[in-house]
Amino acid sequence: MSKKKIKEIFIGSNNKGKLKEIADLLPKSLKIYSNLDFKIPSPKETGVTFKQNSLLKAKYFSLKTKKICMSDDSGIEIDILDKAPGIYSADWAGNKRNFNFAIKKVYREISKKNKNWKKKKLSARFICALTIFWPNGKFVSKIGKIEGRISNSKKGKNGFGYDPIFIPKGKRLTFGEMEPNKKYRIDHRSNAFKKIKKFF
Ligand code: IMP
Repeated sequence: MSKKKIKEIFIGSNNKGKLKEIADLLPKSLKIYSNLDFKIPSPKETGVTFKQNSLLKAKYFSLKTKKICMSDDSGIEIDILDKAPGIYSADWAGNKRNFNFAIKKVYREISKKNKNWKKKKLSARFICALTIFWPNGKFVSKIGKIEGRISNSKKGKNGFGYDPIFIPKGKRLTFGEMEPNKKYRIDHRSNAFKKIKKFF
């Protein structure tokens, strides 16, 4: 890790939803590079934790670009599913990353566990590991979380991924129904970002 403030960074992600959310967290004065310009294929996510996968991605993209790089690994843990899909959240959406398909799978798996699940509050959380990797090999990784529950049905068109079925604790709306700014202020990614923002 370096004491010098970061002036430019490569955001190592091929997920446009995440790219936008990460870019929105960063100071406006920062020069941001992304895979929209570089087109580097994503590495295999072989880690078994969010932290391992975010480090693996940040290191890979930093080695390829020779730039300071930030990557995230994130996903949703649903307690009744023994914390699945977890680090496999993207995989549940298939090769085409179809989240209607992933959400159907979530509901199907929950029904297998408990047919009356709609009468219950099913706890879940989004988790995000953010890693900054410097070309000199130093890195910092931090975790952010947001607790909540699974909605009885898919609601809202905002956000991406599992947003339409996640209701954060203390709220009535799903992330999919919330104004993007309201989501960003409280979500797992911004909670992780608060822990590394001193580097910018
Ligand atoms: P990965 O970090 O690229 O392995 O992908 C994580 C997956 O988790 C994404 O494809 C999303 O489906 C899901 N995910 C992560 N963060 C969010 C979020 O803020 N909202 C909705 N889904 C998310």
